[in-house]
Formats: sequence, C-alpha cells, structure tokens
Amino acid sequence: MAEFKLNLEKGELLIGGKRSVFHCNHYNTFLQKTLIDAMGEKMTVVQISISEKINLEMLGKVTQDVDNKLEEIEEIFSNLGLGILDLSNIEQGKAIVDNSHYALNCYYKFGEQKGGSCLFANGYIQAAYQILTGERKEFVETQCVSMNPEKFENCIFEVKT
Ligand SMILES: [Zn+2]
Repeated sequence: MAEFKLNLEKGELLIGGKRSVFHCNHYNTFLQKTLIDAMGEKMTVVQISISEKINLEMLGKVTQDVDNKLEEIEEIFSNLGLGILDLSNIEQGKAIVDNSHYALNCYYKFGEQKGGSCLFANGYIQAAYQILTGERKEFVETQCVSMNPEKFENCIFEVKT
C-alpha cells in the first residue's frame, strides 16, 4: 500500500514524499473546461502531459520497492477517488476506468461530450504504462461516460496508433 502521510499541523498530505492537493470533481471539471474554453483544444494535450509528468514522478517513487507495481498503481488510483482502474490489458495498450464520477460530473454539468473528458486519468495511465513496460506511449480515451452515460458504462483508454 502506498504511503499517504497526513500532517494536520501543516495541513499537508504527502504521497510518495510529494505534496498533494485534492480538489472536488466540481472544481476540477470547471477548471478543465475553463482552460479549454480560454485556450482551445491544445489545453487537452497540456493537461494530459502535466498529469503524466506528476504521476510518473509520484508513481515511480511509490512503486520503486513494490513487487506488484500494477496492483499498487490501480490501488492508488482508487485511493485518489478517481474510480476503479483496470490495467489488466495495459501491455496490450488498453486500460479501463469504472465508476468515474469525474466523467459523470462532466456530463451532468456540460452535457454530452464529443470526446474523452478524463484528462487526469489519461495522463495517469500513460505514466502507469511507462512504469510497467519501460516504454512511453500516448493513450487516447476512445470511450468516456461523459459522452453518454446511458450508452457507455465505463471509460476506455487505448494506445494512440
Ligand atoms: Zn472518461
């Protein structure tokens, strides 16, 4: 289990020795939409890249002495409150996120989305892939609950071809 250290005196949470900040899904969805509205679709790539960078550093530290890195990475994802991450097919270039309240929140706040909304998860999965395989690949969210929760029951990420 990853080391989560909470220091109430300093108001600080450390994950793998790095300071971490949690925001609710409402704050994060509006922040993501504001950045894209203001600066265009290029902000999608920027946000995925930032997520990949910070998660690569954090997951690299947290999993360095762990035997089952895949399980650890899945568990940290759920502990971060992002849903249930299934990396069982990651080496084939596929990951699935179930119960993404973030994607559902995007749908309820902004209506049916044309593409994937889970940018932080996308970057997290890219970092996970790099740690688990030693290679860097970009993933794209090919199916997202925010596109239509009646039609899609989970979010699917696949290696860009
Ligand atoms: Zn999604």
